[in-house]
Amino acid sequence: MLKQHLNALRKANPNVTIGFVPTMGALHEGHGSLIECSIKEQNITICSIFVNPTQFGDIADLANYPKPIAQDIALLIGLSCDILFLPDYEQVYPPDYLQIEFNLSGLDHKIEGASRPGHFQGVCNVLSRFFEIIEPNVSYFGQKDFQQTVVVKKLIELQRRTMGVKVVPIKREPNGLAMSSRNIRLSTQGRKNAAFIFTALTTAKDDFYAGMNLESVLAKAQQFINAQKGASVEYIVAVDTKTLSKVTKATNEIVILTVVIYEDIRLLDNIIL
Ligand code: AMP
Repeated sequence: MLKQHLNALRKANPNVTIGFVPTMGALHEGHGSLIECSIKEQNITICSIFVNPTQFGDIADLANYPKPIAQDIALLIGLSCDILFLPDYEQVYPPDYLQIEFNLSGLDHKIEGASRPGHFQGVCNVLSRFFEIIEPNVSYFGQKDFQQTVVVKKLIELQRRTMGVKVVPIKREPNGLAMSSRNIRLSTQGRKNAAFIFTALTTAKDDFYAGMNLESVLAKAQQFINAQKGASVEYIVAVDTKTLSKVTKATNEIVILTVVIYEDIRLLDNIIL
Protein backbone atom coordinates (compact mmCIF):
# COMPACT_ATOMS: atom_id res chain seq x y z
CA MET A 1 0.00 0.00 0.00
CA LEU A 2 2.68 2.49 1.05
CA LYS A 3 4.86 1.39 -1.87
CA GLN A 4 2.01 1.98 -4.34
CA HIS A 5 1.29 5.39 -2.81
CA LEU A 6 4.95 6.41 -3.08
CA ASN A 7 5.21 5.13 -6.64
CA ALA A 8 2.20 7.25 -7.57
CA LEU A 9 3.85 10.28 -5.94
CA ARG A 10 7.06 9.63 -7.90
CA LYS A 11 5.13 9.18 -11.12
CA ALA A 12 3.33 12.48 -10.62
CA ASN A 13 6.58 14.24 -9.75
CA PRO A 14 9.77 12.41 -10.75
CA ASN A 15 11.85 14.94 -8.81
CA VAL A 16 10.11 14.38 -5.49
CA THR A 17 12.55 13.56 -2.67
CA ILE A 18 11.69 11.22 0.16
CA GLY A 19 13.30 11.32 3.60
CA PHE A 20 12.94 8.32 5.89
CA VAL A 21 13.26 8.19 9.68
CA PRO A 22 13.05 4.65 11.08
CA THR A 23 12.11 4.43 14.78
CA MET A 24 10.73 2.04 17.35
CA GLY A 25 8.32 4.65 18.71
CA ALA A 26 8.05 6.13 22.23
CA LEU A 27 9.09 9.24 20.36
CA HIS A 28 10.95 12.10 22.04
CA GLU A 29 12.76 15.23 20.90
CA GLY A 30 15.72 13.13 19.74
CA HIS A 31 13.52 11.42 17.15
CA GLY A 32 11.94 14.83 16.55
CA SER A 33 15.29 16.32 15.54
CA LEU A 34 15.71 13.61 12.86
CA ILE A 35 12.21 14.27 11.54
CA GLU A 36 12.76 18.05 11.52
CA CYS A 37 16.01 17.57 9.64
CA SER A 38 14.27 15.43 6.99
CA ILE A 39 11.37 17.89 6.68
CA LYS A 40 13.85 20.71 6.09
CA GLU A 41 15.80 18.78 3.45
CA GLN A 42 13.24 16.58 1.62
CA ASN A 43 9.83 17.05 0.01
CA ILE A 44 8.18 14.15 1.82
CA THR A 45 9.12 12.75 5.23
CA ILE A 46 8.16 9.26 6.36
CA CYS A 47 8.58 8.10 9.94
CA SER A 48 8.21 4.40 10.65
CA ILE A 49 7.29 2.98 14.04
CA PHE A 50 8.02 -0.72 14.37
CA VAL A 51 9.38 -2.51 17.41
CA ASN A 52 11.46 -5.02 15.51
CA PRO A 53 11.55 -8.36 17.38
CA THR A 54 14.56 -9.66 15.44
CA GLN A 55 16.89 -7.07 16.96
CA PHE A 56 16.03 -7.95 20.56
CA GLY A 57 17.98 -10.77 22.20
CA ASP A 58 16.07 -10.42 25.43
CA ILE A 59 12.35 -11.27 25.24
CA ALA A 60 11.60 -9.30 28.42
CA ASP A 61 13.25 -6.20 26.94
CA LEU A 62 11.02 -6.56 23.87
CA ALA A 63 7.89 -7.10 25.97
CA ASN A 64 8.71 -4.08 28.19
CA TYR A 65 9.40 -1.75 25.28
CA PRO A 66 7.04 1.26 25.68
CA LYS A 67 4.33 1.68 23.00
CA PRO A 68 2.57 5.03 23.60
CA ILE A 69 1.17 5.19 20.05
CA ALA A 70 -1.45 7.96 20.62
CA GLN A 71 1.29 10.20 22.08
CA ASP A 72 3.60 9.35 19.17
CA ILE A 73 0.94 10.26 16.60
CA ALA A 74 0.35 13.59 18.38
CA LEU A 75 4.10 14.33 18.25
CA LEU A 76 4.24 13.51 14.52
CA ILE A 77 1.23 15.72 13.80
CA GLY A 78 2.84 18.51 15.85
CA LEU A 79 5.96 18.28 13.69
CA SER A 80 3.93 18.09 10.44
CA CYS A 81 5.52 14.76 9.49
CA ASP A 82 3.94 13.73 6.17
CA ILE A 83 3.57 9.98 6.57
CA LEU A 84 3.59 7.56 9.49
CA PHE A 85 4.40 3.99 8.46
CA LEU A 86 3.03 1.71 11.19
CA PRO A 87 3.31 -1.76 9.69
CA ASP A 88 2.26 -5.00 11.37
CA TYR A 89 4.66 -7.92 11.67
CA GLU A 90 3.47 -9.74 8.50
CA GLN A 91 3.84 -6.60 6.42
CA VAL A 92 7.51 -6.40 7.35
CA TYR A 93 8.18 -10.13 7.44
CA PRO A 94 5.80 -12.04 5.15
CA PRO A 95 5.41 -15.77 6.04
CA ASP A 96 7.93 -16.76 3.36
CA TYR A 97 10.54 -14.23 4.53
CA LEU A 98 13.91 -15.73 5.34
CA GLN A 99 16.18 -13.71 7.62
CA ILE A 100 19.28 -12.65 5.71
CA GLU A 101 22.77 -13.00 7.17
CA PHE A 102 24.62 -9.90 5.98
CA ASN A 103 28.39 -9.89 5.66
CA LEU A 104 29.11 -6.75 7.64
CA SER A 105 32.87 -7.40 7.78
CA GLY A 106 32.67 -8.00 11.51
CA LEU A 107 31.27 -4.54 12.31
CA ASP A 108 28.21 -6.27 13.78
CA HIS A 109 30.24 -8.35 16.25
CA LYS A 110 32.13 -5.50 17.87
CA ILE A 111 31.27 -3.43 20.96
CA GLU A 112 27.45 -3.29 21.18
CA GLY A 113 27.30 -6.37 18.95
CA ALA A 114 29.41 -8.32 21.45
CA SER A 115 26.97 -7.41 24.24
CA ARG A 116 23.93 -8.09 22.03
CA PRO A 117 24.64 -10.98 19.64
CA GLY A 118 22.47 -10.85 16.51
CA HIS A 119 21.29 -7.30 17.22
CA PHE A 120 22.78 -5.65 14.14
CA GLN A 121 21.73 -8.52 11.84
CA GLY A 122 18.18 -7.86 13.07
CA VAL A 123 18.58 -4.13 12.45
CA CYS A 124 19.88 -4.77 8.91
CA ASN A 125 17.03 -7.17 8.09
CA VAL A 126 14.35 -4.69 9.11
CA LEU A 127 16.07 -1.75 7.44
CA SER A 128 16.63 -3.63 4.23
CA ARG A 129 12.88 -4.43 4.14
CA PHE A 130 12.04 -0.76 4.79
CA PHE A 131 14.49 0.45 2.12
CA GLU A 132 12.85 -1.97 -0.38
CA ILE A 133 9.37 -0.68 0.42
CA ILE A 134 10.15 3.04 0.69
CA GLU A 135 13.20 3.55 -1.56
CA PRO A 136 14.09 6.76 0.27
CA ASN A 137 16.44 9.36 -1.15
CA VAL A 138 17.96 9.92 2.28
CA SER A 139 17.55 8.06 5.57
CA TYR A 140 18.14 9.79 8.88
CA PHE A 141 19.86 8.18 11.86
CA GLY A 142 20.94 9.49 15.25
CA GLN A 143 24.58 9.73 16.35
CA LYS A 144 23.20 8.41 19.66
CA ASP A 145 23.42 4.88 18.19
CA PHE A 146 26.84 5.46 16.72
CA GLN A 147 27.70 1.87 15.81
CA GLN A 148 24.34 1.56 14.05
CA THR A 149 25.25 4.46 11.74
CA VAL A 150 28.47 2.68 10.73
CA VAL A 151 26.62 -0.62 10.20
CA VAL A 152 23.93 1.08 8.11
CA LYS A 153 26.53 2.68 5.84
CA LYS A 154 28.07 -0.78 5.36
CA LEU A 155 24.64 -2.27 4.56
CA ILE A 156 24.02 0.38 1.92
CA GLU A 157 27.42 -0.27 0.37
CA LEU A 158 26.70 -4.04 0.35
CA GLN A 159 23.33 -3.57 -1.29
CA ARG A 160 24.72 -0.95 -3.68
CA ARG A 161 21.95 1.49 -2.83
CA THR A 162 22.14 5.04 -4.05
CA MET A 163 20.36 6.22 -0.90
CA GLY A 164 22.04 8.85 1.25
CA VAL A 165 22.52 8.56 5.00
CA LYS A 166 22.44 11.55 7.29
CA VAL A 167 23.69 11.30 10.85
CA VAL A 168 22.02 13.79 13.19
CA PRO A 169 23.76 14.93 16.44
CA ILE A 170 22.64 13.61 19.83
CA LYS A 171 19.75 15.51 21.35
CA ARG A 172 20.23 15.85 25.09
CA GLU A 173 18.06 16.69 28.07
CA PRO A 174 18.95 20.08 29.65
CA ASN A 175 21.30 18.34 32.12
CA GLY A 176 23.19 16.58 29.29
CA LEU A 177 21.61 13.11 29.52
CA ALA A 178 21.16 11.74 25.98
CA MET A 179 17.46 11.49 25.20
CA SER A 180 16.23 7.91 24.98
CA SER A 181 12.94 6.03 25.05
CA ARG A 182 14.41 4.18 28.04
CA ASN A 183 14.85 7.35 30.16
CA ILE A 184 11.22 7.21 31.31
CA ARG A 185 12.14 4.06 33.23
CA LEU A 186 14.59 6.04 35.39
CA SER A 187 13.38 7.48 38.71
CA THR A 188 12.90 11.27 38.80
CA GLN A 189 16.07 11.67 40.86
CA GLY A 190 17.93 9.11 38.73
CA ARG A 191 17.11 11.00 35.57
CA LYS A 192 18.61 14.15 37.10
CA ASN A 193 21.68 12.33 38.43
CA ALA A 194 22.32 10.53 35.13
CA ALA A 195 23.93 13.75 33.88
CA PHE A 196 27.19 12.21 35.20
CA ILE A 197 27.48 10.20 31.96
CA PHE A 198 27.75 13.32 29.83
CA THR A 199 30.04 14.91 32.43
CA ALA A 200 32.33 11.87 32.16
CA LEU A 201 32.38 12.09 28.36
CA THR A 202 32.99 15.84 28.12
CA THR A 203 35.73 15.59 30.76
CA ALA A 204 37.28 12.73 28.77
CA LYS A 205 37.32 14.90 25.66
CA ASP A 206 38.90 17.80 27.58
CA ASP A 207 41.51 15.47 29.08
CA PHE A 208 42.34 14.08 25.62
CA TYR A 209 42.88 17.56 24.22
CA ALA A 210 44.93 18.50 27.29
CA GLY A 211 47.35 15.75 26.22
CA MET A 212 46.37 12.85 28.49
CA ASN A 213 46.90 9.46 26.83
CA LEU A 214 43.75 7.62 25.74
CA GLU A 215 44.18 4.74 28.15
CA SER A 216 44.29 7.12 31.13
CA VAL A 217 41.39 9.16 29.71
CA LEU A 218 39.20 6.04 29.59
CA ALA A 219 40.35 4.74 32.97
CA LYS A 220 39.55 8.09 34.61
CA ALA A 221 36.09 8.25 33.00
CA GLN A 222 35.31 4.68 34.02
CA GLN A 223 36.42 5.34 37.59
CA PHE A 224 34.30 8.49 37.75
CA ILE A 225 31.16 6.68 36.51
CA ASN A 226 31.67 3.65 38.74
CA ALA A 227 32.02 6.00 41.72
CA GLN A 228 28.42 7.20 41.20
CA LYS A 229 25.98 5.39 43.47
CA GLY A 230 24.10 2.65 41.57
CA ALA A 231 26.11 3.10 38.36
CA SER A 232 28.45 0.71 36.60
CA VAL A 233 30.21 0.88 33.27
CA GLU A 234 29.36 -2.01 30.95
CA TYR A 235 31.96 -0.75 28.51
CA ILE A 236 33.80 2.41 27.63
CA VAL A 237 36.01 2.29 24.54
CA ALA A 238 37.75 4.63 22.15
CA VAL A 239 37.37 3.48 18.54
CA ASP A 240 38.03 4.69 15.02
CA THR A 241 34.81 6.28 13.72
CA LYS A 242 34.96 4.32 10.44
CA THR A 243 36.34 0.88 11.34
CA LEU A 244 35.15 0.76 14.97
CA SER A 245 38.53 -0.74 15.82
CA LYS A 246 39.92 0.13 19.22
CA VAL A 247 42.51 2.89 19.14
CA THR A 248 45.18 3.71 21.65
CA LYS A 249 46.74 6.67 19.87
CA ALA A 250 45.31 9.69 18.09
CA THR A 251 44.07 8.61 14.64
CA ASN A 252 41.96 10.41 12.05
CA GLU A 253 38.72 10.50 13.98
CA ILE A 254 37.97 8.86 17.30
CA VAL A 255 34.70 8.33 19.13
CA ILE A 256 34.35 7.27 22.75
CA LEU A 257 31.41 4.89 23.13
CA THR A 258 29.94 3.88 26.45
CA VAL A 259 27.13 1.89 27.99
CA VAL A 260 26.34 2.59 31.61
CA ILE A 261 24.00 0.50 33.71
CA TYR A 262 22.12 2.82 36.02
CA GLU A 263 19.02 1.86 38.00
CA ASP A 264 19.15 -1.40 36.00
CA ILE A 265 18.74 0.48 32.73
CA ARG A 266 21.26 0.37 29.89
CA LEU A 267 22.12 3.93 28.93
CA LEU A 268 24.11 4.48 25.72
CA ASP A 269 26.11 7.57 24.99
CA ASN A 270 29.12 8.70 22.99
CA ILE A 271 31.28 11.67 22.14
CA ILE A 272 33.38 12.33 19.04
CA LEU A 273 36.84 13.61 19.89
P1 AMP B 1 14.97 4.13 18.24
O1 AMP B 1 13.51 4.44 18.25
O2 AMP B 1 15.60 4.10 19.60
O3 AMP B 1 15.30 2.93 17.39
O4 AMP B 1 15.68 5.36 17.52
C1 AMP B 1 15.31 5.75 16.22
C2 AMP B 1 16.34 6.73 15.70
O5 AMP B 1 16.36 7.88 16.54
C3 AMP B 1 17.75 6.15 15.69
O6 AMP B 1 18.41 6.58 14.50
C4 AMP B 1 18.37 6.77 16.90
O7 AMP B 1 19.77 6.89 16.83
C5 AMP B 1 17.70 8.14 16.92
N1 AMP B 1 17.77 8.73 18.25
C6 AMP B 1 17.38 8.16 19.41
N2 AMP B 1 17.67 8.99 20.45
C7 AMP B 1 18.26 10.08 19.92
C8 AMP B 1 18.80 11.28 20.47
N3 AMP B 1 18.81 11.52 21.77
N4 AMP B 1 19.32 12.20 19.63
C9 AMP B 1 19.35 11.95 18.28
N5 AMP B 1 18.85 10.85 17.70
C10 AMP B 1 18.33 9.93 18.51
